[in-house]
Amino acid sequence: AVRPLIAGNWKMNGLKTSITEFEAMLRGAPEVTGKADLLVCPPVTLLAGFAAKASSFGQEGKHAVTVGAQDCHPKASGAHTGDISAEMLADAGATAIIVGHSERRADHGESDAVVREKALAAWRAGLTAIVCIGETQAERDAGKTLDVCGAQLKGSLPDDCTSGNLIVAYEPVWAIGTGLTPTAQDVEQVHKFIREHLNQRFKNEGPSIKILYGGSVKPSNAKELMAVPNVNGALVGGASLKAADFLAIAAGC
Ligand code: 13P
Repeated sequence: AVRPLIAGNWKMNGLKTSITEFEAMLRGAPEVTGKADLLVCPPVTLLAGFAAKASSFGQEGKHAVTVGAQDCHPKASGAHTGDISAEMLADAGATAIIVGHSERRADHGESDAVVREKALAAWRAGLTAIVCIGETQAERDAGKTLDVCGAQLKGSLPDDCTSGNLIVAYEPVWAIGTGLTPTAQDVEQVHKFIREHLNQRFKNEGPSIKILYGGSVKPSNAKELMAVPNVNGALVGGASLKAADFLAIAAGC
C-alpha cells in the first residue's frame, strides 16, 4: 500500500507569527503520523524558520512534519531578480517543491514545458517534485477532463519519474477555494486515469507514485475522498492554515 501524504499549501498566507500554528501541527503530528505523512509548504519567507522548528521536534532523526516550497525557478542561480532556485529551497530545508499549481499556470502563464523544467530543477537539488494538474470548469463541462489531464501529464512530467522523486496532485481548478468537490466517482475516474498513465510510462515505479487529490479538502469531506481508490493523500489549501483542521484531515486517512 502507498503511504498517504497530507500536504498543506499555504499559498500567499502567513507571517512570522504563524510559527505558533506550525508548532501546534508539530505537537499534534504524533497522533496522526501513524496514518499519513505530513508536509507543510509555507511562503518562502517562513520556510527556513519552519524547517528549523521541525527538526528541533524531530524524533529518532525522523521529522514529524517536513517542509516544502510552492514554486522554484528552473535554473540553479543567476541573474533572475526576485526568483528562488530549487537549490536555495533545499538549502533552506525544503524536502519537496510544488510545481505547476493552477494558480501559477494562470497568474504566471506557466506552460507544461516550464513546469517540466521546474520538476527537473527540484530533482537537480535532490528534492521531490509535486506536479499539479487539473481541468477548469469549462473543460469539465465540455467533457475534456481526461484529455486535459492527459496532456498536462504528458507535457509536465519529465521522463524517469519514480516514487521517490515525484508526487502528482490532481486539483480540478473549479474545486480550488470554492467549497465544491467532484463526486467520489469523478475523483476515482481521474485518479485511475492518472495511475494508468504513470504505470504505462514509468513501469514498475507507477504503482507506488503518490497521487494526491486537491480542491476544497476539509475535515468533513476528507475521509470520503481519502478512501477513493488511487487517492494517496491530499493537497490542502485553506484548511491547511489551521493546525486543528490540517491534523483532522490527516486523521481521516
Ligand atoms: P483549497 O483547499 O483552499 O481549495 O486549495 C486547494 C489547493 O489549491 C491546494 O494546492
